[in-house]
Amino acid sequence: MKDLQTELQTLREALIEHSYRYYVLDDPSVPDAEYDRLLLRLKQIEADHPELITPDSPTQRVGGVALSSFPTVQHEQPMLSLENAFDDADVHAFNKRICQRLKINEPITYVCEPKIDGVAVSLLYEKGKLIRAATRGDGFVGEDITQNVRTLRSVPLQLRGKDHPEKIEVRGEIYMPITDFNAYNQKAHTLGEKEFVNPRNAAAGSLRQLDPKITAKRPLKLFCYAIGKISEENIFSTHYDMLMQLKAWGFPVNPEIEHVTDIQNCLVYYQEIQHKRETLGYEIDGAVYKVDSLIQQKALGFVTQAPRWAIAHKFPAREEITQVQDIAFQVSRTGALTPVARLAPVFVGGVTVSNASLHNIEEVWRKDIRVGDTVIIRRAGDVIPYLVSVVLDKRPENTKPIAFPKICPVCGAEVIKPDTEIVVRCTGGLFCRAQLKETIKHFAARKAMNIDGLGDKIAEQLIEHNFVKEIPDLYTLQLHQLIGLERMGEKSAQNLIAALETSKQTTLPKFLYALGIREVGEATALNLASHFGQLEKIISASQADLEGVSDIGPVVAQNIAAFFRQVHNCEIIKKLQTLGVWWNEHVVSQTKQILDKKIFVLTGTLSHPREEVKATLQALGAKVSGSVSAKTDYVVAGEDAGSKLTKAQALGITILSEEELKELLGSVTS
Ligand code: NAD
Repeated sequence: MKDLQTELQTLREALIEHSYRYYVLDDPSVPDAEYDRLLLRLKQIEADHPELITPDSPTQRVGGVALSSFPTVQHEQPMLSLENAFDDADVHAFNKRICQRLKINEPITYVCEPKIDGVAVSLLYEKGKLIRAATRGDGFVGEDITQNVRTLRSVPLQLRGKDHPEKIEVRGEIYMPITDFNAYNQKAHTLGEKEFVNPRNAAAGSLRQLDPKITAKRPLKLFCYAIGKISEENIFSTHYDMLMQLKAWGFPVNPEIEHVTDIQNCLVYYQEIQHKRETLGYEIDGAVYKVDSLIQQKALGFVTQAPRWAIAHKFPAREEITQVQDIAFQVSRTGALTPVARLAPVFVGGVTVSNASLHNIEEVWRKDIRVGDTVIIRRAGDVIPYLVSVVLDKRPENTKPIAFPKICPVCGAEVIKPDTEIVVRCTGGLFCRAQLKETIKHFAARKAMNIDGLGDKIAEQLIEHNFVKEIPDLYTLQLHQLIGLERMGEKSAQNLIAALETSKQTTLPKFLYALGIREVGEATALNLASHFGQLEKIISASQADLEGVSDIGPVVAQNIAAFFRQVHNCEIIKKLQTLGVWWNEHVVSQTKQILDKKIFVLTGTLSHPREEVKATLQALGAKVSGSVSAKTDYVVAGEDAGSKLTKAQALGITILSEEELKELLGSVTS
């Protein structure tokens, strides 16, 4: 029992501290998942030992305290929180509790809503005019933020229509759209100002500005989802009707809200809204299911912190905490050393994460990440895992800031930091196995020489066995050497030899790209090929000549000139040509003649990013316009092409499918 008392005390202290940082300072130090875990544990202990519950326990309270800097507001009707469901079983249990309380067997009608991850607000209207806006505070007493809320364009200052009650308190969530949040943080970063942890904190921090002019500059928006106190009761019979009326009075109501006939359909809604999550433009952290009938809601009533007739079905956490076990340095193709955090595996955003790239040493120093630290990892959608910050309270003693290695961890060569760059580079060049491996992978990539079957593991083994010391060695590989490699059967070895043979016939842009010159991507390679027509001319071009190519600036020109100045690089090119690598020099110029000054319009969904197609066309001398006119030469129509296609048809303009465009481009890019 003594142990339990100690655990209880520790949990309560931690939760109170976290709530203070989250609700009052808008500066949480741990992810929500961690807070939820601690709260769940406290609830469990209190459920098993009700005698230990105290009125000030975090389980008995909602939110945080009101800040003294604002006048306080007493809510006429408490602003509560919501019960949470973390899986389908929790949702079924919720439905079962409701049926039992209401003593009914028929399915319950629910309204499903996205759970907006913002800040709860109460808006009081008298005679149709906004007279007060308040935060939730501790649920009973909130802060008066009327002047700040008045600056939000989506908050109606005057209700629409005439049939509104004398007095009505509307509740909703104020949030910051994701793109605005990112733009805000980017600007703050550039100015060296404090960035917000997430859009919710950004909304909370922006609303609690003492100067409304600052709030006015922040891009905040509102969605309404409930009514608190109202002067004329019983004017609606369902929650859904109430939402529709709110909309008619001019309140923004979320467009994703749905009316469903039973709990099973709530779960279907959950899946659908989870799919849509990345495209909504604002953060949601789950779905809320509410009993639709207001008579049933009344009969169900409330528990201490939340209504019995609603539940928040949370999405799996996108932020988690874990430990940094090591910080390693990976060597890229260009020799850049990238720090990578090796993490204790953690399940976040639907996958197990054990590594997070730290981009560059300055990021490591800025975030002060050390081995042994507890850190917050974020993984949203398909984005690669990202280390948000260190939980400093949990830092063990005797940790040391990370120093940069003086030698390359792979080849032992000296490491240098060019003055103009924030990256640090290994000077081992192709002696460095890590650089050679990345070089081979790049050379073999689909957009480069397109050598099917030459992936990471094979490249590694080819180097390990000394079969490939430089790129041309790829074309001297023998079948018996490949068969000896791990996980390589006779058939795959034959396929790889055949793929190498096929790759020899290429195009100039692809070959240039395959060389891996720094900052020469596909588009630049195509521009170079199109401008000079022949490799020899590119090799002998001066820096000034190179700067004459569209889209090539001084830095890229310098990289190209420096690459071809290296005798070793020119020898490699010669060797490759001697081994049979070949391209038709006329293809680019012929295609260029056909496309010169022709006007293209791209419409519909294309299988390649539109910007990519546009860059290719422009590199070959064509112009790309946004609208169809009599001057348009070609319209490239992808899937679901609409009005532009119709207009082109009416004007009798040549319409190309993607396939036909590919033919027109010849073998330049394919
Ligand atoms: P909550 O945010 O989980 O849910 C209740 C709130 O949801 C309501 O008050 C309302 O503001 C909001 N909401 C959004 N959409 C809604 C809709 N359609 N209908 C009704 N309500 C809607 O609960 P809470 O009590 O505000 O806060 C608990 C949350 O705060 C948890 O997620 C917890 O992890 C987090 N928290 C984190 C820390 C931390 O340190 N990281 C500290 C305290 C709290």
